[in-house]
Amino acid sequence: MDTQNFVHESSKVLEFIANYYKNIEKYPVRSQVEPGYLQKLVPDNAPDFPDPLEAILEDVRSKILPGLTHWQSPNFFAYFQSNASTAGFLGEMLCAGLNVVGFNWISSPAATELETIVMDWMGKLVNLPETFLFSGNGGGVMHGSTCEAMVCTLVAARDRFLKEHGADMITKLVVYGSDQTHFSLQKTGKIVGIPPENFHAVATSSSTFFALAPNDVRMAMEEDLASGLVPLYLCATIGTTGLGAVDPLEGLGQVARDYGVWLHVDAAYAGSACVCPEFQHYLNGVELADSISLNLHKWLLTNMECCCLWVKYPGALVDSLSTSPELLRNVASETKVVVDYKDWQIALSRRFRAIKVWVMIRMYGVNNLMDHIRSDVQLAKQFEALVKEDKRFELVVPRKFALVCFRLRPKNNEEDGSKLNRELLESVNSSGQAYMTHAMAGGTFVIRCAIGGTLTEERHIHGVWKLIQGKAELLQNCCNI
Ligand code: PLP
Repeated sequence: MDTQNFVHESSKVLEFIANYYKNIEKYPVRSQVEPGYLQKLVPDNAPDFPDPLEAILEDVRSKILPGLTHWQSPNFFAYFQSNASTAGFLGEMLCAGLNVVGFNWISSPAATELETIVMDWMGKLVNLPETFLFSGNGGGVMHGSTCEAMVCTLVAARDRFLKEHGADMITKLVVYGSDQTHFSLQKTGKIVGIPPENFHAVATSSSTFFALAPNDVRMAMEEDLASGLVPLYLCATIGTTGLGAVDPLEGLGQVARDYGVWLHVDAAYAGSACVCPEFQHYLNGVELADSISLNLHKWLLTNMECCCLWVKYPGALVDSLSTSPELLRNVASETKVVVDYKDWQIALSRRFRAIKVWVMIRMYGVNNLMDHIRSDVQLAKQFEALVKEDKRFELVVPRKFALVCFRLRPKNNEEDGSKLNRELLESVNSSGQAYMTHAMAGGTFVIRCAIGGTLTEERHIHGVWKLIQGKAELLQNCCNI
């Protein structure tokens, strides 16, 4: 490596990124390109000789940026945000720059040890019981995604059961979630070999604001047992993707205990809010769970990607996922006094995510992390108040975090308003001025405004609301609906 040139070229990329952020509000938030647009702009074959960085950056500017949906735009209110931050970026630079592969302790002791320390820090920050921390004989690992965390925990639950009852029982095992549980649970079941028909999505309704009712889960399990099936794994969500619902952990934990199923808590989005004491009650009952995961890259200022997974019984993960090839034999692993993270995840290779999170936590400090969550929630409250003030609109579920779910009321009561709201959402998104997505609440189309972009300020909240009102007026005037 020519270190002089490395600094020079890196500073060019940094300048490019800084300019991108400076101008980010000028781009249409949702990309407006047509499918296949890039094929026409980029050669069919890779270059035989080096291209200069300037030419590459120019191509990023002219060919790639138009095809991006600008997730870091302050007018991005879609899905759940993917929080970037200066500290998250600097941490990511260290991770990419050092580029170590800490699959076992000896392959990079600091990578493993820092991860165990930071996982305990994070666990304490969201007030997890000691039993999920290394200091309490549990422990945590950083994965890339919630889906991976679910695959690993479901494999552990599956193998624990099959070891005792025989491998051919796999066709009988049932995985439970709700009709609002993230679809990655269903995918996880498929990957792990649970028959797709044994994915039991328990129906939710407006009576529980679309949260899982423990009694309904109990009934579902009883029904399945009566038909010869075996309940294995239940996923409860803190902050569902569609509507931000919170499944009640105390009741669900009791059901899980009664039926001997593995309870996983998916706190991908709202888990981050639990750094603030006033949100920690949503985790009441987590002591009854076997595992819990949360995506720091959604709402805690961590650039892509980092999903924290804590388990009470690390041995259950290791029993399922460990391999000891001769190639990796070493004294530290054999003494079993170290963590070998390859046995806590799917892949062998792994990134040094802990350094990114460590840098992020240290550069902001816990008080600023709390302020960050609170100010997003405050913005969401403001948006919610604007919706409430305009009688043409209605909130669909009570807001718990920084996600506001609303819809335009149809003038004509015979129609449920789904078509109207679909059109409203599309007209907002195709304007390029803001981007939101939708969810279904009991068959009704709902618009989601997910607040929490790092750059989003009060003026953006008022701006997007004005945009929505304007588009609604146009729609209602032109079509009289
Ligand atoms: N669970 C919830 C509640 C989510 O909101 C999401 C994504 O938005 C996921 C899981 C999927 O996360 P990942 O992409 O990390 O697998």
